Amino acid sequence: MKDRITIAIDGPAASGKSTVGEYVAKKLDYLFFDTGIMYRAVTLAVIRKSIKPEAESEVSKLAESIQIDILPPSCPDGRKADVLIDGDDVTWEVRSKEVEANVSLVSTYKGVRDAMTGQQRRIGSRGDVVMVGRDIGTVVFPDADLKVYLEASAEVRARRRYEELLERGINSDFQEILSSTKRRDEIDKNREIAPLKPADDAVIIKTDDLTIEGVVEAILSLVSKIGLIVDGR
Ligand code: C5P
Repeated sequence: MKDRITIAIDGPAASGKSTVGEYVAKKLDYLFFDTGIMYRAVTLAVIRKSIKPEAESEVSKLAESIQIDILPPSCPDGRKADVLIDGDDVTWEVRSKEVEANVSLVSTYKGVRDAMTGQQRRIGSRGDVVMVGRDIGTVVFPDADLKVYLEASAEVRARRRYEELLERGINSDFQEILSSTKRRDEIDKNREIAPLKPADDAVIIKTDDLTIEGVVEAILSLVSKIGLIVDGR
């Protein structure tokens, strides 16, 4: 029986990776790490410094110089973690529309990816981690013990994002969310470095008709198959 494993969960925007990954990590008492937050934090730093997102070398230099920290939540306002850029709390700002509109472009740059991938490997190398993103199974941890790829149609994912915002009291335009979701998919899937795709040995789970609990269940049963005992299974 293995006792320290790395679980990689990849998939497109709003495929449920973070919610599902967090539940799985809690169940296994593992570290949960959402790598999308790091790319969002770099993008926010770019916007705050009034750097053009198209200016690749300036953006990359900034990504190498800022310190991003993701810490346990410091206040009960619905946050899953504190996100800090050079000590400044940016937890909610990294979710802004402006960040969302630019994050996929910023994430195409080699300098940005190298800086983030290095930090992700350092954080995840101790094992007992559920890491979620776009390239965890293909690039960051190609030797992960379990690789899962979550899929759902753009419409279902946009609907989920719309409802999530509504729950937080934010009224948004569904069509706008749908087109932003499709735009991000397009850039993430077609970029040259670390494009969004399932690893050859990933288990693909189609989540359109599944509940969060259903997806968590499916992943936990895969975990028990690779030799880790979950709830006596
Ligand atoms: O998962 P989330 O929507 O927070 O990710 C934001 C963006 O960060 C994605 O659209 C993608 O462009 C980028 N990303 C990435 N590689 C990762 C995680 C996120 O390129 N491992």
